[in-house]
Amino acid sequence: MNALLPLVRPNILAAAEAATRGGYDVQNIVATATYILAAVLFILALKWLSAPITARRGNVAGQIGMTAAIVGALLSHHVVRYEWIVAGFAIGALIGAPMAIWMPMTAVPQRTALSHAFGALAAALVGTAHYYLFFQPGALKPHPLTMAFLTLEVLLGSLTFTGSLMAFGKLQDLLPTRPMVYRGQNIINFVILAGAAITGVILVWNPQVTWLFPVLLGLAALFGVLLILPIGGADMPTVISLLNSYAGLSASMMGFVLDNKLLIIAGALDGASGLILSIIMCRAMNRSFSNVLFGAFGQVQESGAGGDQAKTVRSGSPEEAARIMEAAQSVIVIPGYGMAVAQAQHKVRELYDQLSKRGVDVKFAIHPVAGRMPGHMNVLLAEAEIPYDRLVEMDDINGDFPQCDVALVVGANDVVNPAARHDKASPIFGMPILNADRARTVMAIKRSMNRGFAGIENELYFAENCLMLFGDAKAVVGGVAKELAENN
Ligand code: NAP
Repeated sequence: MNALLPLVRPNILAAAEAATRGGYDVQNIVATATYILAAVLFILALKWLSAPITARRGNVAGQIGMTAAIVGALLSHHVVRYEWIVAGFAIGALIGAPMAIWMPMTAVPQRTALSHAFGALAAALVGTAHYYLFFQPGALKPHPLTMAFLTLEVLLGSLTFTGSLMAFGKLQDLLPTRPMVYRGQNIINFVILAGAAITGVILVWNPQVTWLFPVLLGLAALFGVLLILPIGGADMPTVISLLNSYAGLSASMMGFVLDNKLLIIAGALDGASGLILSIIMCRAMNRSFSNVLFGAFGQVQESGAGGDQAKTVRSGSPEEAARIMEAAQSVIVIPGYGMAVAQAQHKVRELYDQLSKRGVDVKFAIHPVAGRMPGHMNVLLAEAEIPYDRLVEMDDINGDFPQCDVALVVGANDVVNPAARHDKASPIFGMPILNADRARTVMAIKRSMNRGFAGIENELYFAENCLMLFGDAKAVVGGVAKELAENN
């Protein structure tokens, strides 16, 4: 137990020791109090972020918590010089602020991937620095448990760093979004991961084999690249969430190495929430979780529905759409990525107001992976101040489509593709979809017959009950709302 104490000794113990010696270590007490405050705020933030109505509060709680965490860390006795910290802060702010301010909402998944990459790189670098400090003159021999946490930190940190950069490249179209597969891929991946794990075990056993440390870093980094290569773009949301989990676990391990309770707590919260989100998304996309873990999924095949046969679609104008909608009793709006690109949410709100004024029951069907990040549609609709009680989750609204007069698809594609229900050759086969095709009339707003994120044709557009409204979502929805307003 005594051997473990240096690993787990809380700051508060140091304060208590100081008090017994006859004085209070005020700095330590304040630092510990700020850490506890930060931990509580992180937990509350996660709780509040899980519901749209409290999400803003959750965001603020997270920001205050992080500020408290930084203040607490700066008050630590371990900090002896502030110059490097100030320099790091300035560089981080120079990179982070423009990313937050100027990267568009539609690029949030890429931005998140980059954040994970930087966070994981930090964890790997801290672990590396810590390892080499063990060989400074006069340094104590590392405890095997410390080495175990350190190797895990470095392994997870390195693989998350390169994996997240790969995910960023795929989402930003710098790398091909299609899965890159080759023969024996799983075996090669397994061998590399096993190699990294064995290297880690040897280092725990005998930390003096310093030449193995860069090997561990290299193998883990290589595994990160190979893990993401075979994953197709359509499965990227799950991967980002999984990488989030890895980055959190790496930070948690770093907390054990540095004896920092807050890092352990925050990392564990991050790791667990990322994992839970991945599982939820796997279910939403009908992916097996073990496939995600081993990275060999998302193989895009040409869907049987794709075909080259000439098919016809019916297209209409905003005026026609307005006439049909004002005669309807119920309209379900299905927002998708196109609404985000067009920033059409405020026009959607105008349409909602016009229809509601006429007594039409308008609801919004939210698919868990509509858009490019979890909760993407909720955020946009909340920004346009559409009442939360009008937003209905997929499972709760799917039964309403057969009784619904109009399903209005605003820039959504994959999430309403009926091929997911019956076309076994389709890459989205098995993904639960919004049953828009079962509505009496479907209107689909998009600019062309181009495919959605999964790169497959959507048979919904060729259905007899579907009317295409071609154009930019903002212009088309705005046109329908204007028509309704003029006909008031
Ligand atoms: P989608 O399948 O990507 O389709 C979006 C459609 O919007 C496109 O077909 C495009 O057609 C149209 N569009 C683009 N710009 C437009 C504009 N200015 N005005 C009108 N239409 C426009 O979108 P989705 O149905 O929302 O499905 C989301 C997809 O992204 C799923 O495959 C999901 O797995 C994946 N994904 C989700 C997340 C997440 O966490 N939510 C993250 C990454 C990936 P035109 O070009 O013809 O206009």
